[in-house]
Amino acid sequence: MSRSGLCQHCESAPANHTCPNCGSLVCERHFDRQRGECASCSVGMG
Ligand SMILES: [Zn+2]
Ligand SMILES: [Zn+2]
Repeated sequence: MSRSGLCQHCESAPANHTCPNCGSLVCERHFDRQRGECASCSVGMG
């Protein structure tokens, strides 16, 4: 199955990172390396 491994944010780019916070597979574009979190977590909900 080639579906697994797609970014869960855009679902169009291959996920190269796994967010250690929420476990989401995200592409490099949706991964904040400085924070080590995905874009969703990096937004800051608190
Ligand atoms: Zn993405
Ligand atoms: Zn996350």
